[in-house]
Amino acid sequence: MNPQGDDVELATTSGQAADALPATDGSGQAWLQRYTTSVMQTFGTPQRVLVRGEGCHVWDADGNKYLDLLGGIATNALGHAHPLLVAAVTAQLTTLGHVSNFFATAPQIALAERLLEVSRAPEGSAVFFANSGAEANEAAFKMARRTGRTKVISTLGAFHGRTMGALALTAKEAYRAPFEPLPGGVEFVPYGDLGALGRAVDGATAAVFLEPLQGENGVVPAPEGYLAAARRITAEHGALLVLDEVQTGIGRTGEWFAHHNPRHEGVVPDVMTLAKGLGGGIPVGAVVAFGPRNAALLGAGQHGTTFGGNPVASAAGLAVLHAIERDALLDNVNAVGAHLRTAIEALGHPLVEGVRGEGLLLGVALTEPVAGHVVTAALERGFIVNAARPDTVRLAPPLVLTTAQADTFVAALPEILNGATP
Ligand SMILES: *Cc1c(COP(=O)(O)O)cnc(C)c1O
Repeated sequence: MNPQGDDVELATTSGQAADALPATDGSGQAWLQRYTTSVMQTFGTPQRVLVRGEGCHVWDADGNKYLDLLGGIATNALGHAHPLLVAAVTAQLTTLGHVSNFFATAPQIALAERLLEVSRAPEGSAVFFANSGAEANEAAFKMARRTGRTKVISTLGAFHGRTMGALALTAKEAYRAPFEPLPGGVEFVPYGDLGALGRAVDGATAAVFLEPLQGENGVVPAPEGYLAAARRITAEHGALLVLDEVQTGIGRTGEWFAHHNPRHEGVVPDVMTLAKGLGGGIPVGAVVAFGPRNAALLGAGQHGTTFGGNPVASAAGLAVLHAIERDALLDNVNAVGAHLRTAIEALGHPLVEGVRGEGLLLGVALTEPVAGHVVTAALERGFIVNAARPDTVRLAPPLVLTTAQADTFVAALPEILNGATP
């Protein structure tokens, strides 16, 4: 018998949780005041203080309800408080919450197997678990170094994360400058420019890092043939092709992974990095190495993490993958995504130039750089969206968004856009 059995039982009662957690009845203003004197100002002033979520909706501390069309930045794949995710995480945490990597657990192994399946990874492939997108890319960067080469190609506009290695792969000057020198050897080429990529990659190149669609850069899909050509070029020179699917993976674009889209001609990467949607809101990152040669790049003792692959995080990943399959969410993403795009373009609003993107990762391109004002106007009317760049509003809602929910946004959009004045 487990002598702690009674304590485990007690800890699950809401009474105990209430003693540990803050009351959420304070006003948003009062909470923000406390925020500014306790949390680092890294993110500026938050737009609202959120206290609760259910499905595609969240509520703020003042009781206002919002349709969440950002989904924690492409992360809340199943929306908020999804019963399956809650049940899987709760069941795992009450059974076994964490062990070190001196031990294996069933959820970790099962999630690795499921990821290899949905990745269509060949025999000999393997997964490394991390806790975030930056960490997944950090591991991929280390894999690149293990080829014995140090030159790495990344693209302008790319976003790969904020740790020193991931930042070295990210071109944005404002992010990099305060932290130089960064790990060296990274060169940048314009995204989508095949000629530039062909000229940059040579026999000294360890890896090419690419997003199949640049999310942070304002939802910019790779041009036709780009990924397939990148595959040919890297293979020709013995360089790794690393696809960063942190934002685009796990059903976001209507395929399990964005590079599965038929327009990428069946491209198979050497390495793929994942995070965001994989845990449905629980921090999970993963690196999928395709084939035995790539799977062996990080050998025993060459990389590590305390939390990576922990059973609770793995249970979350398994729940997300299960729900996507069980509830045919890829079909939903394609249907609702196409509907949203068509309906927004059909508004014919003078501020809307068009809609870019795939599945439920959409960028509403504006004719003027007023995306920040659109975000504010949307928030005031009960919708959460995001300015991926000054002229682009990003939509990355939960994969469970319904057409009816999408339509409430489309109906409000003209007024939102009209209200988006500097
Ligand atoms: C968000 C993102 C990252 C970084 O992920 P974190 O979990 O924030 O570290 C890396 N690459 C892409 C493409 C992303 O969208």
